[in-house]
Amino acid sequence: MSYIDLKTPPKREDRLNACIAHAGTICEMAAGKGKKSCLQNDGDRSFTQGNICLLLPALAMLNTLPDNVVLQHSAVGCGSCTHSQNANVRFGSNARHGKPKDGIWLSTAMNETDVITGGEEKLEQAIIEADRRYKPFSITVVSGCVPGIIGDDIDSVVQRVQPEVNARLLPVHCEGFKTKIWATAYDAVYHGIGRTLLRSGEQSPDADGLSPYKGLERLPYTVNLMNVSSMGKIDELELERLLNSLRLEVNVFPVFTHPESMVKATQAALSISTCPTHDDYFLSYLEERFGVPALIRHMPIGIENTGLWLRDVAARFDREQDVERIIEHEEKELKAALAEFRPLFEGKKVFISAGEFRALATARLLEEIGFTVVGIRSFHHDHFAEVEYEKLAKSSTEDYVIDIANVQPFEEANLLRRLKPDLFLGHANGNGTASKLGIPTHAIYHTALAYIGYKGVYEIARRLHRELKNPIYNRKLADNVRLPYRDAWYETSPFSYITKGDSAA
Ligand code: SF4
Repeated sequence: MSYIDLKTPPKREDRLNACIAHAGTICEMAAGKGKKSCLQNDGDRSFTQGNICLLLPALAMLNTLPDNVVLQHSAVGCGSCTHSQNANVRFGSNARHGKPKDGIWLSTAMNETDVITGGEEKLEQAIIEADRRYKPFSITVVSGCVPGIIGDDIDSVVQRVQPEVNARLLPVHCEGFKTKIWATAYDAVYHGIGRTLLRSGEQSPDADGLSPYKGLERLPYTVNLMNVSSMGKIDELELERLLNSLRLEVNVFPVFTHPESMVKATQAALSISTCPTHDDYFLSYLEERFGVPALIRHMPIGIENTGLWLRDVAARFDREQDVERIIEHEEKELKAALAEFRPLFEGKKVFISAGEFRALATARLLEEIGFTVVGIRSFHHDHFAEVEYEKLAKSSTEDYVIDIANVQPFEEANLLRRLKPDLFLGHANGNGTASKLGIPTHAIYHTALAYIGYKGVYEIARRLHRELKNPIYNRKLADNVRLPYRDAWYETSPFSYITKGDSAA
């Protein structure tokens, strides 16, 4: 029995032994020490500050689906991140389908009475009303903490109501209290898609896993390019450009894909991950049930990693000679274009904060254009990233700090005061601490800005050059605002609240 046969996907702490608390160094992580001492489950910090729940990444995917209603079964405040995500949905719809379109987001707004009497009836009525009012192709029923705590069974509700509505109903389990590793959200969404939209075409259980898919025709030169919303259209175009140059057709999946056409993913010749943190759950399912092989290593960020990613793809289609020619041409042109930026970057210290794969691939990119990495904060750690730590340990001349932390801005403030980087790269909503310390910051993810592939390297360098030529804004900010920590905190080890494990600082 595979995970997809279960009602809910397992949390990543259980499935991947993923963890969220460790203070180490790049050399220790490369030597596998992080794996042994990174703390799992709830044994992480005796003080914790700030986190996000599964709903944020799950809704970032679900809100993009055309002809779909997101119906949250939860308290009214859950998923309020949609308000800020909708700009991305509108922008992304415009870029892909030629017109801006809002996501449709509803909530059962569970209250105290529902907590006592149960909310299943309310959910049933909400599904029927959403179907009547919007006539969507699908309704994703997303559960938050409250139904998980009181025992509302959204799967049974969906089964009961499905015959009464035209929309396909997808239960998606995002009970925030179940896990501290929000990457579990990707599994939750993929789980819902796999169990409802693709299932009718699965191979019979006794079929040979390598035999061609029996339901629909295999598309021999079409590849699935996985995007769970960590790339904007501009990055999709860059990867499509590179894959087209290998004479491959690209099926971007799943963001902005109409739920009715998702089955195309089962016909592809290969699925290519753009971030192993996002995709392993679903790619294993596609491989196991539909015979679609998967590539799940390297993130195409930076010169070296983009080349490695492309070579892996080319090898699957016997196009090794073509890929060497393409890489040589791209790198030659890119390196010449980067020359004007390098003198300003050379030796400048940088700290990077993001999801594990993005942070590590970005660190390599920044080294390639002249920066010196002094620290990385990864939101969690699992075995997929081990090879990336090894790459960085080889390319770096000095050891530096690795903080595995599901945000924790107090640790970050302490680390930044010690390391004094010249630049901080983090998510737009996570750059405040560094900015208030006077450090120039840059968004490590923005769907309107190029980040991926060779074009991404050039565009990041261009943006950083412009920013570092005049860092006065953040200096002025530091002169006028302060962080909420006492001076005594900065004199303490940044990792003193990690309950076990090694300390690197
Ligand atoms: S943690 Fe629970 S209550 Fe909080 S937003 Fe997430 S689902 Fe809602």
